[in-house]
Amino acid sequence: MTTNRCRGPDDVRLIARLVCSEFHVRPPAFEWRRPGSRTGRYLPHQRLGTILIAPDAPHWLLLHELAHHLHQHEMTERAVASLTRGGDDTGHGPNFRSCLMVAARVWYGDEARYPWYADYPALRRWWEHEQRTRFSVLEEN
Ligand SMILES: [Zn+2]
Repeated sequence: MTTNRCRGPDDVRLIARLVCSEFHVRPPAFEWRRPGSRTGRYLPHQRLGTILIAPDAPHWLLLHELAHHLHQHEMTERAVASLTRGGDDTGHGPNFRSCLMVAARVWYGDEARYPWYADYPALRRWWEHEQRTRFSVLEEN
């Protein structure tokens, strides 16, 4: 697991382009928080498609916000955004988690290298549960 940080706005944009190109999705726009800020945000409504983040954010935090962008794109593609808004699949639901898993795999080569312990407790618990499920399947076979 790694907690490397972005090295500035150009680095943030480069990582976003790399990850989004894997999904054939147009990269998001960025607005900047102060360097050292530890939180990111995927902006809603009229500013949808914009990530608010520090230029020296940890890679994992950028990947988390990019997963919101990829998830949003996926919902828009399927034209179901209005149906799922407010439902189970907004926020950090199953489809968001799939986007984050794949984004982590693209960037780190293995989603296990994403520092799940640093993310929201609900995501950390979900990841830990996933690992237990995987191992129990392996043991049964
Ligand atoms: Zn989030």
